[in-house]
Amino acid sequence: MSEHDYDLIVLGSGPGGQKAAIAAAKLGRHVAVVDRHDMVGGVCVNTGTIPSKTLREAVLYLTGMSQRELYGASYRVKQDITIADLMARTQHVIGREVEVVRAQLLRNHVELVDGIGRFVDPHTIAVEGRARTTISADYVVIATGTTPARPSEVDFDEARVLDSDEILALDTIPGSLVVVGAGVIGIEYASMFAALGSRVTVVEQRERMLEFCDPEVVESLKFHLRDLAVTFRFGEKVVDVAVKDSGTVTTLASGKRIPAEAVMYSAGRQGMTGSLDLDKAGLTADRRGRLSVDPHYRTPVEHIYAVGDVIGFPALAATSMDQGRLAAYHAFGEPVHELGSLQPIGIYTIPEISYCGATEAELTTSAVPYEIGTARYRELARGQIAGDSYGMLKLLVSTTDRKLLGVHVFGTGATDLVHIGQAVMGCGGTVDYLVDAVFNYPTLSEAYKVAALDATNKIRALDRFSM
Ligand SMILES: Cc1cc2nc3c(=O)[nH]c(=O)nc-3n(C[C@H](O)[C@H](O)[C@H](O)COP(=O)(O)OP(=O)(O)OC[C@H]3O[C@@H](n4cnc5c(N)ncnc54)[C@H](O)[C@@H]3O)c2cc1C
Repeated sequence: MSEHDYDLIVLGSGPGGQKAAIAAAKLGRHVAVVDRHDMVGGVCVNTGTIPSKTLREAVLYLTGMSQRELYGASYRVKQDITIADLMARTQHVIGREVEVVRAQLLRNHVELVDGIGRFVDPHTIAVEGRARTTISADYVVIATGTTPARPSEVDFDEARVLDSDEILALDTIPGSLVVVGAGVIGIEYASMFAALGSRVTVVEQRERMLEFCDPEVVESLKFHLRDLAVTFRFGEKVVDVAVKDSGTVTTLASGKRIPAEAVMYSAGRQGMTGSLDLDKAGLTADRRGRLSVDPHYRTPVEHIYAVGDVIGFPALAATSMDQGRLAAYHAFGEPVHELGSLQPIGIYTIPEISYCGATEAELTTSAVPYEIGTARYRELARGQIAGDSYGMLKLLVSTTDRKLLGVHVFGTGATDLVHIGQAVMGCGGTVDYLVDAVFNYPTLSEAYKVAALDATNKIRALDRFSM
């Protein structure tokens, strides 16, 4: 018998914590999850992934953007879109998702303890919420996530100068918006507000954005966003944001001044470890509040694990869930496979981007010869039906063994389509599988076949000319 109250205490109910708790409960363990009652589901459900993706869906629907190729540039589902229109859908989905999380924890007899936890000693957690309590466990999983980083020189006022968590609390849609930081979150929101008709300026100190993606795809995205009146200021640093009654003026180091109704900062995120009293557990966080872990998600203190955004890259809900599950399995001696290296990246800009496997730059650097196969949505019947003439799917195929090495998708359904390529690559498949497979018609998935034929034709030409 253990001397502790629980087998496992999980700090944080986001995707990482939730899946760690459920996995342990399925193994018959006695589990408690600590989180604030108004944050069940984590950043993911309450302020991050789910609200931003629902907002995007509401924007796409109400603006009628995705139908304009078919019905004309003036097509709208609703003329004057308000924040209330957008929030109605967002709040509805958040409410449902919170219920799903609560029900899942309840069903599996996981106790939800309301409040914020901190270490008293390596096995004991003091929880402060609507009530105060102290609980202990054999194992602890830290899944406390992140909070937006806020440069100290900027006065955030929750009205005109906001971070990416606060943007959901805007009371009107700004006519103009400065987005500082062209990371994934910044550029997703930039594209949503641009689609709503805000004049958006994106300021980024680096010379490029989304460097990890295929450059051709990023170029296509930039083209589309410019078409929606987005202005990019790359290689520029913000030195001041002045807030007046009438709006804001953002001053750049180059002397440029940008007037806008609101400014959204998206300057990275900081690990939520500040109030954990980590020293009492024998742990320390890095400068950005993140914890280091071994391949089993174990911190230097053997019975304490950490998963999700608090351990840094890739900081996605998708990976956090698996990390949580694997940490619980490892703690309770269940055999585990490590997370596969083939993890998809999805960026929900308008239009969306997704990829899996290698990029052209990586293959070139490591001297792996490859050929490209491309399919354009405008050549697919489903592309015409859906009114998407800009989408494209690109395959990278090894010219030595014909294996699929990477898939890059831009346009409607990209974040779903990518999984076909992921599955083929995961099974070590070649481009010939895609050439020979029959796809439903008319579908966007058919892009795989078109791109595979394109790649094999090019490889054939190479063979012919080499004889
Ligand atoms: C705007 C935005 C959009 C995103 N879009 C996507 C996307 O499209 N796809 C994707 O895969 N990922 C996306 N992400 C990332 C995704 O939300 C995170 O990767 C994911 O939420 C991380 O999960 P987590 O388990 O680390 O916990 P989080 O979801 O970060 O939740 C952490 C929880 O811990 C709680 N907590 C903090 N401190 C304590 C404490 N001391 N005691 C108890 N509880 C505590 C918090 O209240 C919170 O509920 C997005 C993020 C943001 C901000």
